[in-house]
Amino acid sequence: MEKTILIRNAAAIVSCDANDTVYKNADLLIKGPQIAKIGPKLADPADEVIDASGCFIYPGLINTHHHFFQTFVRNLRTIDYPNMTVPEWISRIYQIFQMINDDVIFYSSLTAMADLIKHGCTTAFDHQYCYTDKTGKRPVDRQMEAAKLLGIRYHAGRGANTLPRTEGSSMPDNMVETTDEFLADCDRLISLYHDPKPFSMSQIVPSPCQPMNCYRETFAETVKFCREKKVRMHTHLGEGENEIMVERWGKRTLDYCAELGFIGPDVWIAHGWELTPEEYKVLGDAESGVSHCPTPAILGGFPILPMQQMLDAGVTLSLGCDGSATNDGSSLLDAMRLAWMQQSYYSKERGGSISPYDMLKIATAGGAKTLGRDDLGSLEPGKGADLFMIDVSKLEFTGTLHDPKNLIARTGVTGYVDMTMINGQVVFADGELKGVDERQLAKEGEAVCTKVLREPCDAFHNL
Ligand SMILES: [Zn+2]
Repeated sequence: MEKTILIRNAAAIVSCDANDTVYKNADLLIKGPQIAKIGPKLADPADEVIDASGCFIYPGLINTHHHFFQTFVRNLRTIDYPNMTVPEWISRIYQIFQMINDDVIFYSSLTAMADLIKHGCTTAFDHQYCYTDKTGKRPVDRQMEAAKLLGIRYHAGRGANTLPRTEGSSMPDNMVETTDEFLADCDRLISLYHDPKPFSMSQIVPSPCQPMNCYRETFAETVKFCREKKVRMHTHLGEGENEIMVERWGKRTLDYCAELGFIGPDVWIAHGWELTPEEYKVLGDAESGVSHCPTPAILGGFPILPMQQMLDAGVTLSLGCDGSATNDGSSLLDAMRLAWMQQSYYSKERGGSISPYDMLKIATAGGAKTLGRDDLGSLEPGKGADLFMIDVSKLEFTGTLHDPKNLIARTGVTGYVDMTMINGQVVFADGELKGVDERQLAKEGEAVCTKVLREPCDAFHNL
């Protein structure tokens, strides 16, 4: 028998469904991994009852771009992104990335996942492209271990860089792999972890890091491999590489990718800062997605995407935190408000801004569409029970309750959510991650960070 949970008497349930339904004073019944019913005063018996009086409930947030392995470079004085040129930043950050081993991957992934969960994220995609002799070939396996421990739904991007520096890449040689090595590992990971069924907790996304740092064959072979395996693809695109691509190939990156077939409903890209309105149309017509990461755009001084224009062109938009080398945190609640503020900043010159509720839908339904998860992204019977709850009877929310749909992105939620549920399991409540000794994990992670990164960094940079 599947476990049933009745969440009772929520002040509002913002469903993000196609009709934008908001249920007031309603209950939500969960059976196993999925939502069974939503409505007022449900009389169904349940194994567990959760009192949601004074709370708003939202669909779980979906993060579509991150680099968990970077989480232990947060607040590192030597990584001063705003005051460094991109080449300076690259040369410094790659010295540090080369120190990372698979224990750092495990604990930094746990740390980022914990931060995501505590801020309402229920499904995370990560782009893991740090492969050296120190990390070995098992970073994604270590991440799967971490995801299982915390109960987060995890889509792993297996990244790769194949072009050596001598041929124009910005990657240090010991972070370069061959296309064959990369695809063989994708194949291994798919057979071990890729579950395409509804309510799947883990999937694999082959994700060459960026066209500029890979051979052409890497992208061409990835397309062939992924279409055969029926898995999605991801890469960085339009983040400052177009000039190099035009010089090298005589075309902009999106044209280059389109020519190789790396475009379509099964492809999404990170950033797209350099894309033109014509290119939005190309992506929209192909039903490809863009993961918009507002924090690195601000920190790195990149353009603020015209989100409404992109939506109008048919682009599937979703939100990402991005890695901690360009965002010292993993809160999508924070990213949502920042993204909305950025849009507002340009609203006069761009003829209006998207609403805070639109931003919530981008972070939920948009993320689900991007990852190909029609079982997620909204609160409806038959969908996965991924949600978070905010106790809005607390003093700081007083006077904000006019509109549950707009609340999150407009006023911001700066602390933790009050409960996060993933696949019908409460993974975070009462300020605690469930089923793990959080302080013990933090202690172990800090010890790994100190040994592998802090002490060598201090010695190296003489801080
Ligand atoms: Zn990135």
